[in-house]
Amino acid sequence: MTSKQNKTFRERPDNIDEHGKRKRIKARQPKGKWYTRRTIVAFSLLLFFVLAPIIKVGGNPFMLLDIVHRKFHLMGATVYSQDGDIMAIVMATVVVFVVLFTVVFGRFWCGWACPHTVFMEMIFRRIEYLFHGNYQRGRRSKFPGRVALALKHVIYFVVVLFFTNVFIMWFTGLSGLILIWKSPLIDYWQVYAAMLVVTVFYYWIYAYVRESVCTLFCPYGRMQGVLMDAKTITVAYDYKRGEPRRLKGDCVDCGGCVVVCPTGIDIRNGTQLECVNCTACIDECNIIMKRMKRAPNLIRFASNYSIETGKSSIKNLRTFAYSAVLLVLLSALVVSLWGRTEVDASLLRMPGTMYQEVSVDSISNIYQLKIVNKTEGVKNIRLKFLKPKNSAFFLSEYPIVLSEDGSFDGVIVLKRARFDMKKGNAPVELGIYDEERMLETTKATFIGPKPGS
Ligand code: SF4
Ligand code: SF4
Repeated sequence: MTSKQNKTFRERPDNIDEHGKRKRIKARQPKGKWYTRRTIVAFSLLLFFVLAPIIKVGGNPFMLLDIVHRKFHLMGATVYSQDGDIMAIVMATVVVFVVLFTVVFGRFWCGWACPHTVFMEMIFRRIEYLFHGNYQRGRRSKFPGRVALALKHVIYFVVVLFFTNVFIMWFTGLSGLILIWKSPLIDYWQVYAAMLVVTVFYYWIYAYVRESVCTLFCPYGRMQGVLMDAKTITVAYDYKRGEPRRLKGDCVDCGGCVVVCPTGIDIRNGTQLECVNCTACIDECNIIMKRMKRAPNLIRFASNYSIETGKSSIKNLRTFAYSAVLLVLLSALVVSLWGRTEVDASLLRMPGTMYQEVSVDSISNIYQLKIVNKTEGVKNIRLKFLKPKNSAFFLSEYPIVLSEDGSFDGVIVLKRARFDMKKGNAPVELGIYDEERMLETTKATFIGPKPGS
């Protein structure tokens, strides 16, 4: 905390006035090296968002969430809904990565990669500057007030509609989206209804809710207090250097860092949950420091610990613990993708059944056999018992032809000689082949009469 704090600090959110009414935050457009870097990152992410479902890798879309056919294209690889283990590992890896990143780098994600911030600060805020001028930097809009307001809202709506279509393309692909556009409205009325609801909702978010998403609603933002500690690197004001303001300290109390802040806070009051680490205040303060011929980075990326002690450190137990978990998850992901089989198979003895006496010297067991094709090619499935070797079996449908993403669920009867059953039961192993190529094996148990019975 700084030595000089705003008297009303923490009495209410910075976008609420003393009567409890919403204050509209009109942040000045930042200028400086951090804003340039953030612009490059943001537009690269926007380009990825638009192009990822369009570009192809090895004939597959780079990214496509094909929920209708229960398959996902991730970086060109096809993952089916049957690959639940891989999807679970991917999700766990993403969660741990975000947590680890937050422990070490605070809300870096919020200011730099969160879709809400990218859209709000890089698109909608720029549209606003175009029609209303750049607040407090003296640039006024060329459009008269009401015309500017109306035009701004029309453009907001059109931009949201465009990105809603891009979002739909992540589920349908480009060809699917074009098909929807070309078909009569009645054929896809559910898609158009969803498009309208999403567009109106996000228009409302960007036109009216704005920074409140980050400061009040986002659950990730609310978790920060638990994840961050004194060694977390955040955008921080060096109060040791800055205070006392206007006197011996470097802070001239110009208020520049406050007027550029998109969440309306004063970073000189210390690390706050409303800070999304956007770095706008760093750029603004550096402009002032240059003008005053003082050293830059009075506000910078630093931990409270390093400002307090002058030492820099990201080495703490939680960082190592999260890194270890992340490493394990990434290894598990690589192993799962590498060892991914083309089919999933299971052989389970039919519940509630015992062995059947087929003849004086042979017995049989009934099993439930399930095979799922996890590839985009047709499979001509052949079966071969590996244990007991080449046992006779009966299946109503054989050979099994599995179409792309197809599955087989049927009953298989396995017969074997009674004199083989020396212990009452024996292991069974079934090989699943595509013609002559082995794809997978699955195991079960064969039960028979107890020896001597
Ligand atoms: S305090 Fe600085 S880094 Fe934090 S949100 Fe405001 S301008 Fe961005
Ligand atoms: S921009 Fe820098 S000098 Fe101006 S009030 Fe903020 S911290 Fe102080």
